[in-house]
Amino acid sequence: MTVTTPDAPVTSRVVDSVEELVGETPLLRVRLAGIPEDTSLLAKLEMLNPLSSVKDRPALAMLRDAEATGLLPATGGTVIECSSGSTGISLAALCTLRGHRCIIVMPDNATEERRLILRQLGAEIVTVPHQEGLLAAWAHAERLQRATPGSWLPHQDRNPANVQAHYDTTGPEILRATAGRVDVLVCGVGTGGTLTGTARYLKQHTDVHVVAVEPARSAVLSGGEGGPHGIPGIGAGYVSDLTDLSLVDDVVTVPDEAAARTADEVTRATGLPVGISSGAAAHASRLIAGRSRWAGATVVTVFPDSGERYLSMAHH
Ligand code: PMP
Repeated sequence: MTVTTPDAPVTSRVVDSVEELVGETPLLRVRLAGIPEDTSLLAKLEMLNPLSSVKDRPALAMLRDAEATGLLPATGGTVIECSSGSTGISLAALCTLRGHRCIIVMPDNATEERRLILRQLGAEIVTVPHQEGLLAAWAHAERLQRATPGSWLPHQDRNPANVQAHYDTTGPEILRATAGRVDVLVCGVGTGGTLTGTARYLKQHTDVHVVAVEPARSAVLSGGEGGPHGIPGIGAGYVSDLTDLSLVDDVVTVPDEAAARTADEVTRATGLPVGISSGAAAHASRLIAGRSRWAGATVVTVFPDSGERYLSMAHH
């Protein structure tokens, strides 16, 4: 039998490893009430990475870097990381694929679906009280790493490979997809890896205004106090060493309720369930897009993960 294939670009393909599926995510044009007709909001859909979040990028980059520099053997090593979920899930997938043991230290308020996915991927989970804060969780991970011979701690909030992943992939992808026409980048800040790497690349290639997004209840970039809040993934409560504040032109703080409400609004407007930090990014993007300075502009934001990771939080 002769099979003919159309001349159209072929995106269906055979890959040998899930690693090949990381990145090259599309930008979705999002239309929301309150965004002027002539202003474009384009959201980078990071839930389309294989493990369903933006964290596949830094997880892969950190792991490759550790293997290349000899911090981790090519197989049979032990990876220990502190993560409220996304980074842990990405690392767990790469570890099972490469034959490493994976231990994830996570706050005890992480959603049940995150714990279940981690277990399914064969990771070991160590829970720590969330009341003690993220820095206490890091200290726990560091103790565990010291007590586990031959283990490696990626330390996503101070590992330069986290920033490099976004400088090498997220930034160039946005520049290519918009043919260089990106006026504003709106980006949530957790470790600061996404913002720092993406903004650094884009600022080297185009005149882009960079807006950082943080929870109103943990507004450390705005000079406030860190604290508990309801936007998982951003607002770590401290400014990480990776966050390059010289790249930030503007900071928008988002109340918890606005993030959750806007995540629902985006989900209904696009048909794509988005996570709460995506709601925060969309809320901030709409605020910026409504300013007369940005009439007719292209505003690009990052939607870090899917709403399906938060269903058990039932904020509806
Ligand atoms: N949103 C979600 C859901 C995340 O998991 C993360 C990563 N922790 C972010 C936003 C922020 O990304 P970054 O760590 O690169 O600042």
